[in-house]
Amino acid sequence: MTTKLFTAAAIGALVLAACQHAPESQTAEAEIVEAAAQASEAAAIATEQAAESVEASARAVAFLAKPVDALKIYVFDCGKINVSNVGVFSANGYFEGQERDFSDTCYLIRHPEGDLLWDLGLPGGLAGMGPQPSEGSVFTPSLERTLVDQMAGIGVTPADIDYVSISHYHFDHIGQPDAAGEATWLISEREYNAIYQSGNDELKAQFAGFEALTPKVFTGDFDVFGDNSVRILQTPGHTEGHTSLQVELPETGTVLLTGDLYHQFESRTEKLVPGFNTSADETLASMDKFEGIADVSEAKVIIQHEARDYATLPKPPEALK
Ligand SMILES: [Zn+2]
Repeated sequence: MTTKLFTAAAIGALVLAACQHAPESQTAEAEIVEAAAQASEAAAIATEQAAESVEASARAVAFLAKPVDALKIYVFDCGKINVSNVGVFSANGYFEGQERDFSDTCYLIRHPEGDLLWDLGLPGGLAGMGPQPSEGSVFTPSLERTLVDQMAGIGVTPADIDYVSISHYHFDHIGQPDAAGEATWLISEREYNAIYQSGNDELKAQFAGFEALTPKVFTGDFDVFGDNSVRILQTPGHTEGHTSLQVELPETGTVLLTGDLYHQFESRTEKLVPGFNTSADETLASMDKFEGIADVSEAKVIIQHEARDYATLPKPPEALK
């Protein structure tokens, strides 16, 4: 009996205490709810501002962009890469176990004020040798004809090339610098520093063939001919100073060459970041920037390693106009 009474009294005391504290705890709860609402509102505003700034910069780019008559793009076959497991192109397991053939493309942008080569493909020494697998690698590259040989087919020699730029420093984009003669090499400062200032001697050695070129290092997006018709866009992440290319064609309109911001169609739709990549955060931010420009300009996007894209493009002597 004593125990029961004690228990009843204890419960009563607890209930009383709970009731007494209720108004206070309700206030605290309301404050937390309000703070959460404010935080969520602040986050929404920040997101909206970020979206607005992406859109504003995209609009600025679209406004600046001007097509130039006679501007055209020749697309060259700078090799094929059989990838035995495409899973390496997604850190999240997408593509795992799939095998695909990637295109490896180079581009000649002919502008009334000069010629720009964009990307230099697989090493010219592979030409005519058939597929070259290497032990322990998922990549089997092959090259039918050198870039110099293909350029000759439309009457262009390395001496004609005024500018050359690479999307980034990976081996499948730097293989044939001889095609650029003694051109000016347009390169983003971050990429240049990664090659020459980072102490990576192995990487630096891969650029031995670039010695005949004169580097011109830039920061920010770069307007190649000074008329906003051809712009190199900073899209870092895959490498430190990765870049993409925007070209304003008289008939096609805006063309965006991805570099390796995306490798396949699904890389773009699913926003896939490769397993080998310098900064996932930067890659995702670069995708936002790129898509902002693509949206506003209703661009034709060419994914350089996407064989299904390459298949639809005109081949020399035809050009994209
Ligand atoms: Zn590549």
